[in-house]
Amino acid sequence: MPTAEAELNQIRLNPLNGRWVTVATDRASRPEEFARDVTPVEAVPVDPCPFCPGHEEETPPALETYGPEGEWLLRVVPNRYPAFAGEGPLRVERLGPLFAQAPATGLHEVLVLSPDHAASWADLSDAQAELVMTALRDRFEVHARRSGVRYSQAIVNHGRAAGASLAHPHGQLVGVPFVPGELVDEIAGFRRFTGSCLLCATVQAERHAGHRMVADHPGAAVITPWWSGAPFEVLVIPTVHDEHLHEAGEADLAAVGRAIRDVLVQLRTVLGDPSYNLVFHTLPHGSDDPFHWHVHLVPRLRTDGGFEQGTGVPINVVAPEDACRLLSN
Ligand SMILES: [Zn+2]
Ligand SMILES: [Zn+2]
Ligand SMILES: [Zn+2]
Repeated sequence: MPTAEAELNQIRLNPLNGRWVTVATDRASRPEEFARDVTPVEAVPVDPCPFCPGHEEETPPALETYGPEGEWLLRVVPNRYPAFAGEGPLRVERLGPLFAQAPATGLHEVLVLSPDHAASWADLSDAQAELVMTALRDRFEVHARRSGVRYSQAIVNHGRAAGASLAHPHGQLVGVPFVPGELVDEIAGFRRFTGSCLLCATVQAERHAGHRMVADHPGAAVITPWWSGAPFEVLVIPTVHDEHLHEAGEADLAAVGRAIRDVLVQLRTVLGDPSYNLVFHTLPHGSDDPFHWHVHLVPRLRTDGGFEQGTGVPINVVAPEDACRLLSN
């Protein structure tokens, strides 16, 4: 039973999206004891794998192919079942005061991150991790020029608990005709933080604090954020300020690609092979709001309960300072 003298849990404010998170470390057993998620992605393996070399005809024709002729290293293909498709701006139709709808125009692409079926981002060579970032930049450039696409979300889902449905390592890029709420909230966070850039300031502050800085590579800082809402949550921040991912320099993109690889290796060492989502946040196309592109890495180690569902307030049972210590070992 907790006593009156027991140390209180903390709520911490995420200045990026303006929301509180709860850090309740006494609810957990030791962080190292987190369940290892080894559920296979595919209940029944998809045979043949449409993303493996030799099965290129199983996907729609490639939008982009990287690598020597006849021996690709990375492919970008249209999603066979796109959530967003077709051109044109948001055309909202109102069916009375309560029911608004619009065609889900946009782009939905798949990036096959490697020809190697068994690899994940953690297994990529320096050159391949850099190539993934180059491909993302190229596709973001295409999306930025496409009429009606306001924002593009790049994601990598790894493992079943993170929503992956095919085992072959791949990411997705989804261009949508509106600015999603999470980005609206983050842009508001950058606007509230006056005087300097919120994430440039975060890198400086975390260098000073030290105990949430997992790695400080030239070009990419890796932190377990103060406001981590999930155990072992990580933020990768390019140390050179750019609003848009596709405007970042070659060396900075490369540094971020390698930094993601390195922290995924550390995560695997500490936790086995957990499911995770990689989420790339960049400024909406054509916007001149304040922003600094960045990458969230959120391991999927727990299932949200009713409190999280009802309030949007996560209860994180591993303090980011503990996560940092374990990931830096
Ligand atoms: Zn495959
Ligand atoms: Zn900045
Ligand atoms: Zn973000």
